[in-house]
Amino acid sequence: MVSTAAAPTGNLLIRNAAAVMTGRAGDAARAGAADIRVQAGRIAEIGPALPRHEGEDVLDATGCVIYPGWVNTHHHLFQNLLKAVPGGMNADLQQWLAAVPYPRLARFTPDIFRTAVRLGMAELLLSGTTTCADHHYLYHHGHGAETGDVLFQVAEELGMRLVLCRGGAIQSAADHPGMAATALVPETLDEMLADIERLKARYHDASADGLRRVVVAPTTPTFSLPPVLLRELSAFGRGMDLRLHSHLSETDNYVRFCREKYQCTPVQFVADHDWLGPDVWFAHLVTVTPEEIRMLAVTNTGMAHCPVSNARLGSGIAPVRKMADAGVPISLGVDGVASNESGSMVHEANFAWLVHRAAGGAAQTRVEEVVHWGTAGGARVLGLPGIGTLAPGQSADLAIYDVSGLRFHGFHDIATAPVAAGEPTPVRHVFVRGRQVVRDGEVVGLDLGRLREDAQRALAALLD
Ligand SMILES: [Zn+2]
Repeated sequence: MVSTAAAPTGNLLIRNAAAVMTGRAGDAARAGAADIRVQAGRIAEIGPALPRHEGEDVLDATGCVIYPGWVNTHHHLFQNLLKAVPGGMNADLQQWLAAVPYPRLARFTPDIFRTAVRLGMAELLLSGTTTCADHHYLYHHGHGAETGDVLFQVAEELGMRLVLCRGGAIQSAADHPGMAATALVPETLDEMLADIERLKARYHDASADGLRRVVVAPTTPTFSLPPVLLRELSAFGRGMDLRLHSHLSETDNYVRFCREKYQCTPVQFVADHDWLGPDVWFAHLVTVTPEEIRMLAVTNTGMAHCPVSNARLGSGIAPVRKMADAGVPISLGVDGVASNESGSMVHEANFAWLVHRAAGGAAQTRVEEVVHWGTAGGARVLGLPGIGTLAPGQSADLAIYDVSGLRFHGFHDIATAPVAAGEPTPVRHVFVRGRQVVRDGEVVGLDLGRLREDAQRALAALLD
Protein backbone atom coordinates (compact mmCIF):
# COMPACT_ATOMS: atom_id res chain seq x y z
CA MET A 1 0.00 0.00 0.00
CA VAL A 2 1.46 3.35 -1.02
CA SER A 3 0.77 6.34 1.18
CA THR A 4 0.04 9.79 -0.21
CA ALA A 5 2.43 11.88 1.83
CA ALA A 6 2.78 15.28 0.21
CA ALA A 7 6.03 16.25 1.92
CA PRO A 8 4.96 19.74 3.00
CA THR A 9 8.22 20.21 4.87
CA GLY A 10 10.35 19.18 1.90
CA ASN A 11 11.91 16.53 4.13
CA LEU A 12 10.91 13.09 3.04
CA LEU A 13 11.95 9.51 3.59
CA ILE A 14 11.02 7.12 0.79
CA ARG A 15 11.02 3.59 2.11
CA ASN A 16 10.70 -0.01 0.97
CA ALA A 17 11.30 0.38 -2.78
CA ALA A 18 11.99 -2.96 -4.42
CA ALA A 19 14.86 -1.50 -6.44
CA VAL A 20 16.57 1.79 -7.27
CA MET A 21 18.29 2.62 -10.56
CA THR A 22 20.75 5.49 -10.18
CA GLY A 23 21.17 6.62 -13.81
CA ARG A 24 24.93 6.23 -13.38
CA ALA A 25 27.06 4.08 -15.67
CA GLY A 26 28.53 0.62 -15.09
CA ASP A 27 28.60 -0.94 -11.64
CA ALA A 28 27.06 2.19 -10.09
CA ALA A 29 23.87 1.80 -12.15
CA ARG A 30 22.00 0.02 -9.35
CA ALA A 31 21.48 0.91 -5.70
CA GLY A 32 19.47 -2.23 -4.89
CA ALA A 33 16.49 -2.15 -2.53
CA ALA A 34 17.43 1.21 -1.02
CA ASP A 35 15.60 3.95 0.86
CA ILE A 36 16.02 7.58 -0.22
CA ARG A 37 16.12 10.58 2.10
CA VAL A 38 15.19 13.98 0.61
CA GLN A 39 16.00 17.26 2.35
CA ALA A 40 15.16 20.69 0.95
CA GLY A 41 14.72 19.37 -2.58
CA ARG A 42 17.96 17.39 -2.68
CA ILE A 43 18.85 13.76 -2.07
CA ALA A 44 20.50 13.58 1.35
CA GLU A 45 21.08 9.85 1.64
CA ILE A 46 20.52 6.56 -0.20
CA GLY A 47 20.86 3.25 1.59
CA PRO A 48 19.13 0.23 3.08
CA ALA A 49 16.68 0.64 5.99
CA LEU A 50 17.32 4.33 6.70
CA PRO A 51 15.91 5.49 10.07
CA ARG A 52 13.18 8.17 10.07
CA HIS A 53 14.34 11.55 11.30
CA GLU A 54 12.05 13.73 13.36
CA GLY A 55 9.78 15.90 11.23
CA GLU A 56 10.23 13.80 8.11
CA ASP A 57 7.27 12.64 6.09
CA VAL A 58 7.39 9.01 5.07
CA LEU A 59 6.39 7.69 1.67
CA ASP A 60 5.97 3.94 1.49
CA ALA A 61 7.24 2.72 -1.89
CA THR A 62 6.43 -0.94 -1.36
CA GLY A 63 5.82 -2.55 -4.75
CA CYS A 64 7.67 0.23 -6.56
CA VAL A 65 10.96 0.80 -8.35
CA ILE A 66 12.62 4.21 -8.38
CA TYR A 67 14.40 5.77 -11.35
CA PRO A 68 15.91 9.24 -11.77
CA GLY A 69 13.35 11.44 -13.51
CA TRP A 70 13.86 11.03 -17.26
CA VAL A 71 15.52 13.92 -19.13
CA ASN A 72 13.84 14.35 -22.51
CA THR A 73 16.27 16.29 -24.70
CA HIS A 74 14.17 16.87 -27.83
CA HIS A 75 10.47 17.62 -28.08
CA HIS A 76 8.03 19.94 -29.88
CA LEU A 77 5.23 20.34 -27.37
CA PHE A 78 2.85 22.15 -29.74
CA GLN A 79 2.51 18.85 -31.64
CA ASN A 80 0.51 17.31 -28.80
CA LEU A 81 -2.62 18.34 -30.69
CA LEU A 82 -1.36 16.83 -33.97
CA LYS A 83 -1.23 13.11 -33.27
CA ALA A 84 -2.07 10.70 -36.10
CA VAL A 85 -3.01 13.35 -38.65
CA PRO A 86 -4.21 11.15 -41.55
CA GLY A 87 -2.27 12.99 -44.26
CA GLY A 88 1.00 12.24 -42.49
CA MET A 89 0.52 8.67 -41.34
CA ASN A 90 2.33 7.11 -44.30
CA ALA A 91 4.61 10.01 -45.16
CA ASP A 92 8.36 10.45 -44.96
CA LEU A 93 9.85 13.48 -43.20
CA GLN A 94 9.54 15.95 -46.08
CA GLN A 95 5.99 14.88 -46.97
CA TRP A 96 5.03 14.81 -43.30
CA LEU A 97 6.33 18.35 -42.66
CA ALA A 98 4.26 19.57 -45.61
CA ALA A 99 1.14 17.66 -44.56
CA VAL A 100 1.09 17.86 -40.75
CA PRO A 101 2.80 20.66 -38.80
CA TYR A 102 3.55 23.40 -41.34
CA PRO A 103 0.02 23.94 -42.76
CA ARG A 104 -1.33 24.27 -39.20
CA LEU A 105 1.28 26.60 -37.69
CA ALA A 106 -0.80 29.72 -38.26
CA ARG A 107 -3.76 28.14 -36.43
CA PHE A 108 -1.86 27.88 -33.14
CA THR A 109 -3.23 30.76 -31.08
CA PRO A 110 -1.65 31.26 -27.64
CA ASP A 111 -4.69 29.48 -26.08
CA ILE A 112 -4.43 26.46 -28.36
CA PHE A 113 -0.69 26.38 -27.79
CA ARG A 114 -1.17 26.46 -24.00
CA THR A 115 -3.51 23.48 -24.22
CA ALA A 116 -1.00 21.52 -26.31
CA VAL A 117 1.78 22.30 -23.83
CA ARG A 118 -0.37 21.19 -20.88
CA LEU A 119 -1.19 17.93 -22.62
CA GLY A 120 2.43 17.31 -23.53
CA MET A 121 3.92 18.10 -20.16
CA ALA A 122 1.28 16.06 -18.33
CA GLU A 123 1.91 13.08 -20.62
CA LEU A 124 5.65 13.36 -20.00
CA LEU A 125 5.20 13.60 -16.23
CA LEU A 126 2.99 10.52 -16.27
CA SER A 127 5.87 8.56 -17.81
CA GLY A 128 8.25 9.74 -15.09
CA THR A 129 9.87 12.54 -17.12
CA THR A 130 10.95 15.49 -14.99
CA THR A 131 12.92 17.60 -17.49
CA CYS A 132 11.87 18.56 -20.99
CA ALA A 133 13.92 20.35 -23.63
CA ASP A 134 11.33 21.79 -25.97
CA HIS A 135 12.60 22.73 -29.42
CA HIS A 136 10.06 25.43 -30.03
CA TYR A 137 9.85 27.10 -33.43
CA LEU A 138 6.45 28.83 -33.65
CA TYR A 139 8.07 32.18 -34.36
CA HIS A 140 7.22 34.37 -37.32
CA HIS A 141 7.52 38.03 -38.22
CA GLY A 142 5.70 39.90 -35.47
CA HIS A 143 4.37 36.71 -33.85
CA GLY A 144 5.38 34.13 -31.29
CA ALA A 145 7.18 35.89 -28.46
CA GLU A 146 4.29 35.19 -26.05
CA THR A 147 4.52 31.44 -26.72
CA GLY A 148 7.88 31.27 -24.98
CA ASP A 149 6.25 32.75 -21.89
CA VAL A 150 3.41 30.23 -22.15
CA LEU A 151 5.92 27.37 -22.02
CA PHE A 152 7.51 28.66 -18.83
CA GLN A 153 4.10 29.40 -17.28
CA VAL A 154 2.82 25.87 -17.83
CA ALA A 155 6.11 24.40 -16.63
CA GLU A 156 5.72 26.37 -13.40
CA GLU A 157 2.07 25.33 -13.06
CA LEU A 158 2.85 21.61 -13.44
CA GLY A 159 6.27 21.67 -11.79
CA MET A 160 8.33 20.43 -14.75
CA ARG A 161 11.90 21.52 -15.42
CA LEU A 162 11.92 23.23 -18.82
CA VAL A 163 14.74 23.93 -21.24
CA LEU A 164 13.38 26.23 -23.94
CA CYS A 165 15.34 25.64 -27.13
CA ARG A 166 14.39 28.85 -28.89
CA GLY A 167 13.99 27.83 -32.52
CA GLY A 168 12.72 29.46 -35.68
CA ALA A 169 14.00 30.40 -39.09
CA ILE A 170 14.88 33.71 -40.64
CA GLN A 171 14.83 32.66 -44.27
CA SER A 172 14.21 29.87 -46.75
CA ALA A 173 11.98 27.76 -44.51
CA ALA A 174 9.22 29.63 -46.34
CA ASP A 175 10.41 27.87 -49.50
CA HIS A 176 9.19 24.56 -48.13
CA PRO A 177 5.94 23.62 -49.92
CA GLY A 178 4.11 23.16 -46.63
CA MET A 179 5.37 26.43 -45.21
CA ALA A 180 4.73 28.45 -48.38
CA ALA A 181 1.05 27.53 -48.17
CA THR A 182 0.72 29.25 -44.79
CA ALA A 183 1.76 32.71 -46.01
CA LEU A 184 3.70 33.10 -42.76
CA VAL A 185 6.65 35.47 -42.97
CA PRO A 186 9.87 34.40 -41.21
CA GLU A 187 11.11 36.70 -38.49
CA THR A 188 14.18 38.88 -38.86
CA LEU A 189 17.50 38.10 -37.20
CA ASP A 190 17.01 41.13 -34.96
CA GLU A 191 13.63 39.81 -33.79
CA MET A 192 15.17 36.43 -33.02
CA LEU A 193 18.15 37.83 -31.11
CA ALA A 194 16.06 40.33 -29.14
CA ASP A 195 13.67 37.60 -28.02
CA ILE A 196 16.52 35.28 -26.97
CA GLU A 197 18.00 38.12 -24.91
CA ARG A 198 14.61 38.81 -23.33
CA LEU A 199 14.03 35.14 -22.49
CA LYS A 200 17.50 34.79 -21.03
CA ALA A 201 17.10 37.83 -18.81
CA ARG A 202 13.66 36.77 -17.63
CA TYR A 203 13.96 33.00 -17.14
CA HIS A 204 17.44 31.53 -17.54
CA ASP A 205 18.83 29.86 -14.43
CA ALA A 206 22.43 28.70 -14.96
CA SER A 207 22.62 26.67 -11.73
CA ALA A 208 23.50 22.96 -11.88
CA ASP A 209 19.84 21.93 -11.46
CA GLY A 210 18.22 25.08 -12.85
CA LEU A 211 14.47 24.77 -13.40
CA ARG A 212 14.45 27.19 -16.33
CA ARG A 213 16.95 27.28 -19.16
CA VAL A 214 17.15 28.99 -22.55
CA VAL A 215 19.06 27.54 -25.52
CA VAL A 216 19.82 29.02 -28.96
CA ALA A 217 18.22 26.58 -31.42
CA PRO A 218 17.49 27.56 -35.05
CA THR A 219 15.20 24.91 -36.45
CA THR A 220 17.72 23.47 -38.93
CA PRO A 221 21.26 24.81 -39.48
CA THR A 222 21.35 24.01 -43.20
CA PHE A 223 17.93 25.55 -43.99
CA SER A 224 16.94 28.13 -41.41
CA LEU A 225 19.39 30.94 -41.98
CA PRO A 226 22.30 31.97 -44.23
CA PRO A 227 25.55 30.18 -43.27
CA VAL A 228 27.29 33.41 -42.33
CA LEU A 229 24.58 34.12 -39.76
CA LEU A 230 24.89 30.60 -38.35
CA ARG A 231 28.38 31.47 -37.13
CA GLU A 232 27.10 34.80 -35.80
CA LEU A 233 24.36 33.00 -33.91
CA SER A 234 26.73 30.56 -32.19
CA ALA A 235 28.94 33.47 -31.10
CA PHE A 236 25.86 35.30 -29.85
CA GLY A 237 24.71 32.29 -27.80
CA ARG A 238 28.14 31.52 -26.39
CA GLY A 239 28.61 35.19 -25.52
CA MET A 240 25.63 34.80 -23.19
CA ASP A 241 26.71 31.35 -21.91
CA LEU A 242 23.75 29.69 -23.63
CA ARG A 243 23.94 26.22 -25.15
CA LEU A 244 23.19 25.42 -28.80
CA HIS A 245 20.78 22.88 -30.24
CA SER A 246 19.24 21.94 -33.59
CA HIS A 247 18.14 19.11 -35.88
CA LEU A 248 20.85 17.42 -37.95
CA SER A 249 21.08 14.56 -40.46
CA GLU A 250 17.63 13.16 -39.82
CA THR A 251 17.33 11.50 -43.26
CA ASP A 252 19.37 10.54 -46.33
CA ASN A 253 17.61 13.38 -48.14
CA TYR A 254 18.87 15.87 -45.57
CA VAL A 255 22.46 14.73 -46.12
CA ARG A 256 22.04 14.82 -49.92
CA PHE A 257 20.78 18.42 -49.75
CA CYS A 258 23.79 19.47 -47.70
CA ARG A 259 26.26 17.74 -49.99
CA GLU A 260 24.71 19.29 -53.10
CA LYS A 261 24.37 22.80 -51.69
CA TYR A 262 27.52 23.03 -49.56
CA GLN A 263 29.73 20.19 -50.91
CA CYS A 264 30.26 18.69 -47.49
CA THR A 265 28.61 16.48 -44.89
CA PRO A 266 26.25 18.10 -42.36
CA VAL A 267 28.67 17.60 -39.44
CA GLN A 268 31.48 19.17 -41.49
CA PHE A 269 29.11 22.03 -42.35
CA VAL A 270 28.29 22.78 -38.71
CA ALA A 271 31.97 22.36 -37.76
CA ASP A 272 32.85 25.03 -40.34
CA HIS A 273 30.34 27.39 -38.67
CA ASP A 274 31.38 26.93 -35.03
CA TRP A 275 28.51 24.60 -34.16
CA LEU A 276 30.37 21.71 -32.53
CA GLY A 277 31.42 21.43 -28.90
CA PRO A 278 30.40 20.22 -25.44
CA ASP A 279 27.78 22.99 -25.34
CA VAL A 280 26.00 21.69 -28.49
CA TRP A 281 23.65 18.77 -29.07
CA PHE A 282 21.78 17.68 -32.18
CA ALA A 283 18.58 15.70 -32.58
CA HIS A 284 18.53 12.58 -34.79
CA LEU A 285 21.97 12.11 -36.46
CA VAL A 286 20.49 9.08 -38.24
CA THR A 287 22.76 9.26 -41.28
CA VAL A 288 26.36 9.93 -40.26
CA THR A 289 29.72 8.74 -41.59
CA PRO A 290 32.51 7.28 -39.41
CA GLU A 291 34.39 10.57 -39.88
CA GLU A 292 31.37 12.54 -38.65
CA ILE A 293 31.09 10.28 -35.60
CA ARG A 294 34.78 10.93 -34.89
CA MET A 295 34.26 14.70 -35.16
CA LEU A 296 31.27 14.59 -32.79
CA ALA A 297 33.23 12.48 -30.31
CA VAL A 298 36.42 14.54 -30.19
CA THR A 299 34.41 17.74 -29.69
CA ASN A 300 32.03 16.13 -27.12
CA THR A 301 29.05 17.25 -29.20
CA GLY A 302 25.94 15.50 -27.92
CA MET A 303 23.01 13.80 -29.60
CA ALA A 304 19.32 13.47 -28.80
CA HIS A 305 18.42 9.99 -29.98
CA CYS A 306 14.75 9.83 -31.05
CA PRO A 307 14.31 6.23 -32.23
CA VAL A 308 10.49 6.12 -32.23
CA SER A 309 10.12 9.21 -34.42
CA ASN A 310 12.89 7.97 -36.72
CA ALA A 311 11.06 4.66 -37.09
CA ARG A 312 7.63 6.27 -37.49
CA LEU A 313 8.86 8.47 -40.36
CA GLY A 314 10.94 5.68 -41.91
CA SER A 315 14.09 7.76 -41.49
CA GLY A 316 16.28 4.88 -40.31
CA ILE A 317 18.13 3.88 -37.14
CA ALA A 318 20.86 6.14 -35.78
CA PRO A 319 24.17 4.25 -35.25
CA VAL A 320 24.04 4.86 -31.52
CA ARG A 321 26.15 1.85 -30.54
CA LYS A 322 29.02 3.11 -32.68
CA MET A 323 28.52 6.67 -31.45
CA ALA A 324 28.45 5.68 -27.78
CA ASP A 325 31.54 3.48 -28.24
CA ALA A 326 33.34 6.40 -29.91
CA GLY A 327 32.51 8.63 -26.94
CA VAL A 328 29.66 10.77 -28.33
CA PRO A 329 27.42 11.89 -25.41
CA ILE A 330 24.05 10.15 -25.95
CA SER A 331 20.64 11.23 -24.65
CA LEU A 332 17.04 10.31 -25.49
CA GLY A 333 14.18 12.43 -26.80
CA VAL A 334 10.61 11.62 -27.74
CA ASP A 335 10.59 14.27 -30.52
CA GLY A 336 7.27 15.93 -31.34
CA VAL A 337 4.37 13.55 -30.93
CA ALA A 338 3.01 14.33 -34.38
CA SER A 339 5.70 11.84 -35.46
CA ASN A 340 5.54 9.54 -32.45
CA GLU A 341 1.98 9.46 -31.06
CA SER A 342 3.46 8.77 -27.61
CA GLY A 343 5.11 11.34 -25.35
CA SER A 344 6.39 8.68 -22.98
CA MET A 345 10.06 8.34 -22.14
CA VAL A 346 9.32 4.81 -20.90
CA HIS A 347 8.11 3.94 -24.39
CA GLU A 348 11.14 5.67 -25.93
CA ALA A 349 13.58 3.82 -23.66
CA ASN A 350 11.85 0.49 -24.30
CA PHE A 351 12.06 1.05 -28.06
CA ALA A 352 15.69 2.23 -27.87
CA TRP A 353 16.52 -0.96 -25.98
CA LEU A 354 14.80 -3.12 -28.60
CA VAL A 355 15.39 -1.53 -31.99
CA HIS A 356 19.19 -1.71 -31.96
CA ARG A 357 18.97 -5.39 -31.03
CA ALA A 358 16.60 -6.03 -33.91
CA ALA A 359 19.05 -4.40 -36.27
CA GLY A 360 22.39 -5.47 -34.83
CA GLY A 361 22.04 -8.26 -32.28
CA ALA A 362 21.51 -8.63 -28.55
CA ALA A 363 24.85 -7.06 -27.58
CA GLN A 364 23.79 -3.65 -28.91
CA THR A 365 22.05 -2.33 -25.79
CA ARG A 366 21.78 -3.00 -22.07
CA VAL A 367 18.94 -1.79 -19.84
CA GLU A 368 21.31 0.06 -17.50
CA GLU A 369 22.91 1.89 -20.42
CA VAL A 370 19.54 2.95 -21.85
CA VAL A 371 18.57 4.32 -18.42
CA HIS A 372 21.90 6.16 -18.34
CA TRP A 373 21.28 7.70 -21.77
CA GLY A 374 17.79 8.82 -20.78
CA THR A 375 18.81 10.36 -17.45
CA ALA A 376 22.48 11.22 -16.83
CA GLY A 377 23.11 11.41 -20.58
CA GLY A 378 20.35 13.99 -20.92
CA ALA A 379 21.68 15.95 -17.96
CA ARG A 380 25.10 16.03 -19.60
CA VAL A 381 23.98 17.33 -23.00
CA LEU A 382 21.75 19.94 -21.34
CA GLY A 383 24.55 21.06 -19.00
CA LEU A 384 22.57 20.24 -15.84
CA PRO A 385 25.00 18.16 -13.73
CA GLY A 386 22.77 18.46 -10.67
CA ILE A 387 20.10 16.20 -12.19
CA GLY A 388 19.92 12.84 -13.97
CA THR A 389 21.48 10.67 -11.26
CA LEU A 390 20.35 9.55 -7.83
CA ALA A 391 23.14 10.30 -5.38
CA PRO A 392 23.58 12.49 -2.29
CA GLY A 393 23.58 16.17 -3.22
CA GLN A 394 21.68 15.67 -6.46
CA SER A 395 18.29 17.26 -7.11
CA ALA A 396 15.43 15.05 -5.89
CA ASP A 397 13.99 14.35 -9.37
CA LEU A 398 12.39 10.95 -8.86
CA ALA A 399 10.13 8.68 -10.88
CA ILE A 400 8.48 6.05 -8.68
CA TYR A 401 6.89 3.26 -10.75
CA ASP A 402 4.25 0.92 -9.39
CA VAL A 403 5.35 -2.55 -10.45
CA SER A 404 2.93 -4.42 -8.19
CA GLY A 405 0.54 -5.22 -11.06
CA LEU A 406 0.14 -8.65 -12.61
CA ARG A 407 2.26 -7.97 -15.68
CA PHE A 408 5.26 -7.62 -13.36
CA HIS A 409 4.64 -10.67 -11.16
CA GLY A 410 7.04 -12.91 -13.09
CA PHE A 411 10.04 -10.57 -13.09
CA HIS A 412 13.32 -11.98 -11.75
CA ASP A 413 14.95 -8.55 -11.98
CA ILE A 414 12.28 -5.98 -11.24
CA ALA A 415 14.70 -3.02 -11.57
CA THR A 416 14.60 -3.49 -15.35
CA ALA A 417 10.80 -3.40 -15.59
CA PRO A 418 10.13 0.11 -16.99
CA VAL A 419 12.65 -0.31 -19.82
CA ALA A 420 12.25 -4.02 -20.52
CA ALA A 421 8.44 -4.15 -20.26
CA GLY A 422 7.75 -0.67 -21.60
CA GLU A 423 4.29 0.86 -21.44
CA PRO A 424 2.13 0.53 -19.45
CA THR A 425 4.44 0.89 -16.46
CA PRO A 426 2.27 3.01 -14.17
CA VAL A 427 3.85 5.99 -12.50
CA ARG A 428 2.80 6.25 -8.85
CA HIS A 429 4.67 9.37 -7.72
CA VAL A 430 6.98 11.90 -9.37
CA PHE A 431 9.09 14.57 -7.71
CA VAL A 432 10.94 17.49 -9.29
CA ARG A 433 13.54 19.01 -6.98
CA GLY A 434 11.56 17.54 -4.08
CA ARG A 435 8.21 19.01 -5.21
CA GLN A 436 5.58 16.32 -5.73
CA VAL A 437 4.19 16.74 -9.26
CA VAL A 438 2.47 13.35 -9.66
CA ARG A 439 0.64 11.83 -6.72
CA ASP A 440 -1.03 8.42 -6.86
CA GLY A 441 -0.85 8.43 -10.63
CA GLU A 442 -2.36 11.90 -11.14
CA VAL A 443 -0.68 15.14 -12.12
CA VAL A 444 -0.93 17.46 -9.13
CA GLY A 445 -3.05 20.55 -9.80
CA LEU A 446 -4.23 19.50 -13.25
CA ASP A 447 -7.96 19.88 -13.96
CA LEU A 448 -8.47 16.88 -16.24
CA GLY A 449 -12.07 17.72 -17.13
CA ARG A 450 -11.15 21.20 -18.23
CA LEU A 451 -8.11 19.99 -20.12
CA ARG A 452 -10.29 17.52 -22.03
CA GLU A 453 -12.72 20.29 -22.98
CA ASP A 454 -9.87 22.62 -24.00
CA ALA A 455 -8.31 19.83 -26.08
CA GLN A 456 -11.59 19.08 -27.86
CA ARG A 457 -12.08 22.75 -28.70
CA ALA A 458 -8.49 23.11 -29.88
CA LEU A 459 -8.68 19.94 -31.94
CA ALA A 460 -11.77 21.26 -33.72
CA ALA A 461 -9.76 24.31 -34.78
CA LEU A 462 -6.92 22.16 -36.09
CA LEU A 463 -8.90 19.46 -37.91
CA ASP A 464 -9.18 19.73 -41.67
ZN1 LIG B 1 12.39 17.52 -33.91
